[in-house]
Amino acid sequence: MSKWLGIVGFTLLTSLMPSVASAQAVGGYAAGCQFDAQALPENGPGFHVIRASRARFYGQPTLINYLQSLGHKLEQAQLPPMLVADIAMERGGPFAYGHRSHQTGLDADIWLRTPPKQTSPRQLEKVAAVDMVDHSLYILTPQFKDQQRQLISLAAQDPRVSRIFVHPLIKQAMCKAYGDAAWLNRLRPWFGHSSHFHVRLHCPPGDTHCEPQAQAAPGTGCGSELASWINDKSGTLSGGASKPYRPTLPQQCQRWVKQ
Ligand SMILES: [Zn+2]
Repeated sequence: MSKWLGIVGFTLLTSLMPSVASAQAVGGYAAGCQFDAQALPENGPGFHVIRASRARFYGQPTLINYLQSLGHKLEQAQLPPMLVADIAMERGGPFAYGHRSHQTGLDADIWLRTPPKQTSPRQLEKVAAVDMVDHSLYILTPQFKDQQRQLISLAAQDPRVSRIFVHPLIKQAMCKAYGDAAWLNRLRPWFGHSSHFHVRLHCPPGDTHCEPQAQAAPGTGCGSELASWINDKSGTLSGGASKPYRPTLPQQCQRWVKQ
């Protein structure tokens, strides 16, 4: 009798569970969710998580591994640890406030400033961003140094990276420093990325429900494409969206993510 109850209970439980069994990114970067996310530890070799109280430090295993290996590369290069900001919520989906993507555990924000001297949880909770662009003169500030260039370059060289969003002036500085390096293609100019850069990984192999983003045009993107961004300063002043962003999520995400 109890055996039958057990089977009925098990069937009921599995039918209520989402149809995705293991770690997966589901849907698009700006309309999706994630299953079996991992938490990035608050500190590790070459990195600190900031504003951990927001609990936005969950990502797909490939992203957590990417961040930890980037931390090791920074240590090897004798660079200061990086500050990792928003990744995603444990189940993904849209944030209550802030940017639109970061929904599938494949996006992460990394700050460009050096860590504060004190890296206690309290300090890391309230650390302030440092803008690398002087928006009135439209030039990079002296805060943007070789250390920042090396950080972005190491971040971009990992083949798991689909694209990294940086301010157009930062892309320009990287083009100047690294010439025709193939990975410059992964650096995409985007306004609003002057105190941090945003790493986006490709859909992990086998994640059949993950929607990839279209490939960027071939080449370094350092020529006319960059010039059009540099000349168009209109986006630099636009603020964040005022209305909460509530996209229609894929079916597998709809009961999994509370919106
Ligand atoms: Zn971001």
